[in-house]
Amino acid sequence: MDLNAQIPGAPNFKWIEFIRSNTADRRGIDNTPRDQSVFSRIEYLADNVLQPLRNEFGPIKINSGYRSAALNRALGSNNKSFHAYGMAADIVPLAKGVTTKDLFVYIHDNLPYTELIAEDVPDGWVHVALERGREKEHQLKYKRVGGSVQRGTYEQILRMFA
Ligand SMILES: [Zn+2]
Repeated sequence: MDLNAQIPGAPNFKWIEFIRSNTADRRGIDNTPRDQSVFSRIEYLADNVLQPLRNEFGPIKINSGYRSAALNRALGSNNKSFHAYGMAADIVPLAKGVTTKDLFVYIHDNLPYTELIAEDVPDGWVHVALERGREKEHQLKYKRVGGSVQRGTYEQILRMFA
């Protein structure tokens, strides 16, 4: 697998964008998936969520995508998280004038998702997860700075964005 290759179905994204991690780089952790199915899950998420977002809002930065067991441990993250399977991405918009709220609203209104979290709302990032067969589960959550992830209604979370 050429990690610098474009993802089929999501031509504005490369595999490496879902695999690279500042923490992994810093700690010398190889975050390359060993299991081919991880690539297929990344592709499903990229194709159905990330590329449509890119088409609508311009460049999207993926702060965290796949997390190997070693990276999960380094981050103190839950190994049951969608990130551990290649099903989740933490994203922020790069284009001027586009906000995390814009991404949150667009995903909610237009795209399939299993889990959508407004993280460190209002200024943080959007976590979106998509699992095959669970596209309509639509778990909506939020996390305030320093808080834990909580379930919320769409209206409740919208009010938290500035
Ligand atoms: Zn996340």
